[in-house]
Amino acid sequence: MAEYLPPTRPRIPGSGLAKGLAVTLRTMTRKTVTEQYPDVQPELPPRTRGVIGLFEENCTVCMLCARECPDWCIYIDSHKETVPPAAPGGRERSRNVLDRFAIDFSLCMYCGICIEVCPFDALFWSPEFEYAETDIRELTHERDKLREWMWTVPAPPALDPGAEEPKELAAARKTAEKLAATQQAEQAQQAQQAGQAGLAEQAGQAEQAGSGERAEPHRPGEGNA
Ligand code: SF4
Ligand code: SF4
Repeated sequence: MAEYLPPTRPRIPGSGLAKGLAVTLRTMTRKTVTEQYPDVQPELPPRTRGVIGLFEENCTVCMLCARECPDWCIYIDSHKETVPPAAPGGRERSRNVLDRFAIDFSLCMYCGICIEVCPFDALFWSPEFEYAETDIRELTHERDKLREWMWTVPAPPALDPGAEEPKELAAARKTAEKLAATQQAEQAQQAQQAGQAGLAEQAGQAEQAGSGERAEPHRPGEGNA
């Protein structure tokens, strides 16, 4: 029995060429999407997960990020330090001091869990992505490098109109005001001390001049001309 073959359409000579030209014309009029990287830097969205920055001042070494990291690629070392009481009669406190904070980006899967779980806003995403290395060991970024990435973290988006101000901003403003007041008080104290020292010096000079006049010996015949 003969095999059934579906009927084929007769081929028009030059139809393939016409199709190809149609595709070329269609794509010629479309906007190009090719990024000319590295000659032109790509415009990345602000929430791009490029690299993680560490804001060391906010880190309390609670270890939450290292415990929650699914890849176990955050390494933290610390030691305890005794802090003297804030007021006389108070109790001494102990606090954790960070010795090492490193992230191995050869293991990291950029899930963002560490950033989400950090209760003290010490970790941030940066859109920087140009940190490829030829040696895999170089992909473990230590705290200094993680801190450098903080300069590339984009500013947070503006608040919605009428939104409540974040507590962090109020706390930062309060700290800045306190610091400015302390500096002003120190400057005023220094100026006062300098003024007092100047007055004391002037008084000393005046006294010296007075005693010099008194100590001037009376020469015989002087003033009897
Ligand atoms: S992004 Fe995810 S995998 Fe990478 S360090 Fe953070 S928790 Fe670990
Ligand atoms: S969770 Fe935040 S505060 Fe705690 S160790 Fe990690 S970075 Fe530091």
